[in-house]
Amino acid sequence: MLEKLKDLNPFRKGKKIYSILRHKCPHCQEGNLFTVANPYKLSTLDHMPKRCPVCNENFEREVGFYYGAMMISHALTTVIAVIVHFTVFHFWGWEIAPHLIFLLSIIIGLFPVIFRTARAIWINMFVDYKAPQLP
Ligand SMILES: [Zn+2]
Repeated sequence: MLEKLKDLNPFRKGKKIYSILRHKCPHCQEGNLFTVANPYKLSTLDHMPKRCPVCNENFEREVGFYYGAMMISHALTTVIAVIVHFTVFHFWGWEIAPHLIFLLSIIIGLFPVIFRTARAIWINMFVDYKAPQLP
């Protein structure tokens, strides 16, 4: 019974959303995608190991691979901006100052998280999860 409930969890290991939200290797979902876990340490924001430390999956699939993640980042930022816009509009109407203050502070504040999540989504589009084989 409990096992069936665990299978229904959309965020469980084996699902792409697990790898994306936790910034884990898309292949084994054990190794970290980024060398430093804290995205707000900006000097190491984009530092990734060349290969997964657990399963040896190649994180640098080709030169410029993560340029595609910029499109994902753009889409995520747009969705967040629309949500912020409608939230601010609900409280302050068309006043420009609250729009700019809230939008800029939220977009700038979330930039490191959006940057890394976009990379995680991008690599998850090309690599599938493979459960470890038992001997
Ligand atoms: Zn791995």
